[in-house]
Amino acid sequence: MVQNRRFFIKNTLIGSTALLVTPPVFSGSSEFLKNSFQSKPWIELSKTAYLNNAKEISKMAGGRPVIAVLKNNAYGLGDIQVAKILNESSFISAMALVKDTRALAIRMAGVDKPILLMGDFERANWDKLIRHNIILSVFSEASFQKIENLAKKCKKTVRVALYLDTGLGRMGIPYEQAIAMATEIAKNDVLEMVHTFSTLTTPKDFAKEQIKRFNAIVESLNKMNIQLGVKHLAPSLSLIDISESHQDAVRPGILLHGTFPLEKMEATKRFSMQPTFRLKAPVVRLELLKAGDTIGFSRFYKVENDEWIATLPIGWADGYYSGAENGAKVLISGKLYTVVNVNASHTNISLGSDTNISLGDIATLVGPDCKEISPEGFGELANGHNYLQINYKESIPKKVYEAF
Ligand SMILES: *Cc1c(COP(=O)(O)O)cnc(C)c1O
Repeated sequence: MVQNRRFFIKNTLIGSTALLVTPPVFSGSSEFLKNSFQSKPWIELSKTAYLNNAKEISKMAGGRPVIAVLKNNAYGLGDIQVAKILNESSFISAMALVKDTRALAIRMAGVDKPILLMGDFERANWDKLIRHNIILSVFSEASFQKIENLAKKCKKTVRVALYLDTGLGRMGIPYEQAIAMATEIAKNDVLEMVHTFSTLTTPKDFAKEQIKRFNAIVESLNKMNIQLGVKHLAPSLSLIDISESHQDAVRPGILLHGTFPLEKMEATKRFSMQPTFRLKAPVVRLELLKAGDTIGFSRFYKVENDEWIATLPIGWADGYYSGAENGAKVLISGKLYTVVNVNASHTNISLGSDTNISLGDIATLVGPDCKEISPEGFGELANGHNYLQINYKESIPKKVYEAF
């Protein structure tokens, strides 16, 4: 019976040409809206949540401005979309990217706030980077020479950031060489130092040691009258935990999306961050599997008793965390269901004996709607962590809403 009703809905909707002219609608509760022609996953973003978070972060940092780290496609959520939203916030003073092409893409999309490139750049992009006023990082002796040569060639003052390594050991001028490099930049008439920054590590004791190293450099350079521009050190964790890390501005990534860097942080109670996104996908197949059946290539899930299994057209190749099959939940029509299998392009959900779900119903895999599917709740149930969204593929379409 249930099967018949489901086939009826599917066939009427897909068979009717009249309905094809209606654009897909992503909200609403009627049978028609739920069965819109979505066949792929998508991401929804809330403008209000982003603007709220930018304001809250500035509050955490004693009112200081926030430099938004939008690397890795804004942690998988769409760097252009997120940058355009944050460009409207008076609490955001700049955006920081790691790839030259993404820094340019954000500028082309109309972002007019300062853009800091924290990584290297292709020589072929040099002209564009200068023309679009992207701040370039001096992160090694070689990068200094590259920027200096190009600046001399084009006879323009180029705005640079002095990127210091105070102990992360990954990028930047080793802190022992900071004074020498800052002096070289300062005496160079084609370069203007507009930022000085470093990155703190996670262990609090060592982060404090890094702050001491940074402050000592700043003090020496101040005495030498060398302009350092905006000074910043703090990713999300340090900005929450260590007030001395705040400097002139803070530089969070994950917090902007409403997620704390670690699970169960005490600060979650003090600040009202809002999850900024939903990951959604429609039910594209419903089947009653029989006791003894299995799901997946590795026959990962074994059906104990007859149960309805829904298939969603999203998998680990889309960046959905494969560990979700450890027991993550999805929300469909206000009810939570368990993920039982994640393959490259498909995810299966157990509905048990529940027959209220229809083809085309929309599952929310991650979102603010309840604790279990919040980014942190999802990370916990999937035995993951709080940064899992960073793997979402660029190909997943984004829809920007004023608010959810
Ligand atoms: C990623 C990154 C950040 C932001 O880190 P979160 O933990 O996401 O806040 C800040 N600074 C640098 C240099 C980074 O690479």
